[in-house]
Amino acid sequence: MIKTDVLIIGAGPVGMFAAQQLGLIGLKAEVVDNLDKIGGQCIELYPDKPIYDIPAVPVCTGEGLTKNLLEQIKPFKINFHLNERVQEISKDKNNWKIVTSKNKTFMAPNIIIAGGVGSFEPRKFLIKEAEKFENNGVFYSIKDKTYFKNKKICIFGGGDSALDWAIELSKIAKVILVHRRTEFRGAEQSVTTVKRLEKEDKLKIKTPFQIVSIEGQDKIKTITLKSDDGKTEKITTDCVLGFFGLIMKLGPIAEWGLNLEKKHIPVNTESFQTNKEGIFAIGDICTYPGKLKLILSGFHEGALAARACFKLARPNEKYRFEFTTTSKSMHERLGVKNK
Ligand SMILES: Cc1cc2nc3c(=O)[nH]c(=O)nc-3n(C[C@H](O)[C@H](O)[C@H](O)COP(=O)(O)OP(=O)(O)OC[C@H]3O[C@@H](n4cnc5c(N)ncnc54)[C@H](O)[C@@H]3O)c2cc1C
Repeated sequence: MIKTDVLIIGAGPVGMFAAQQLGLIGLKAEVVDNLDKIGGQCIELYPDKPIYDIPAVPVCTGEGLTKNLLEQIKPFKINFHLNERVQEISKDKNNWKIVTSKNKTFMAPNIIIAGGVGSFEPRKFLIKEAEKFENNGVFYSIKDKTYFKNKKICIFGGGDSALDWAIELSKIAKVILVHRRTEFRGAEQSVTTVKRLEKEDKLKIKTPFQIVSIEGQDKIKTITLKSDDGKTEKITTDCVLGFFGLIMKLGPIAEWGLNLEKKHIPVNTESFQTNKEGIFAIGDICTYPGKLKLILSGFHEGALAARACFKLARPNEKYRFEFTTTSKSMHERLGVKNK
């Protein structure tokens, strides 16, 4: 069990900045995110796109902003628990008990929900056998590509992830790229590359085909594809990879007894506390009159929520407002030397 002052749900830009604000005032935070990487929407949806409205940063990409935020929180040695969804929360005396999808337990007097639009989850195959073989032949993300070495793999999808992984895995495995349309949606360069690889006999492309069933007992033996004109085809394969994009689900957050307004959490704008003491909501997931779904608004919300967490984390101390320019204790926490 991990004890901390604040458990932050969501490693998007707003959750990260809240961690920095907590670090500055001397509170410890742990961050949990369902995704396999840090950065939320910025890294998942628009890593290469320019953002023009981060204060005092004329332009930066989603990835650039994430890197800078990570640099900014470095002094506080924040632990990130990725690939884990916060599943359950319950009250345990003065603490909240938080349990993740990997059964990790945290105890904290405060929770900051910076869950954006909910947890990102892969869009899955609709056929029933896909669930049976999930993580045992059927995958929606790749953690270690060496697992696929010398295997027969069918990759489904027409976007960048499907194309990029088809190109990458064709170097170590036998790849068939299957898409339900004849045209791919991914970057032109990737489409050209997969077509070239097909000509060089380094991978196969099957369009327009969809999967209709998966056959096998303990592991996948074959899959059946169906084309638009009703023709079916059986293919021997070891693995099936689906890259159909992500869906955003509010997920378990909806089950925690928090007030909700159209899938958003109402908060008071003094502390960003929800209807439950010690649970705060900031960033895209919170709502209040005049709310703007902008990163800069989320940063302000994180600064206020962090100060509000102090009360429950240090009940016998009085919070003192300080500037980073002049505060010795903040400089110590930041690891900077006073001149
Ligand atoms: C294409 C695009 C362009 C944009 N451009 C701009 C712009 O120019 N300027 C601007 O200010 N804003 C822009 N935005 C909006 C901006 O990205 C969001 O306001 C911002 O990402 C919100 O940050 P957040 O940290 O609140 O949430 P998110 O970035 O959504 O991060 C939330 C994280 O919480 C995780 N999570 C949710 N539930 C759970 C759970 N139960 N357990 C574990 N983890 C969970 C999710 O996996 C996610 O990683 C843009 C958005 C898009 C889609």
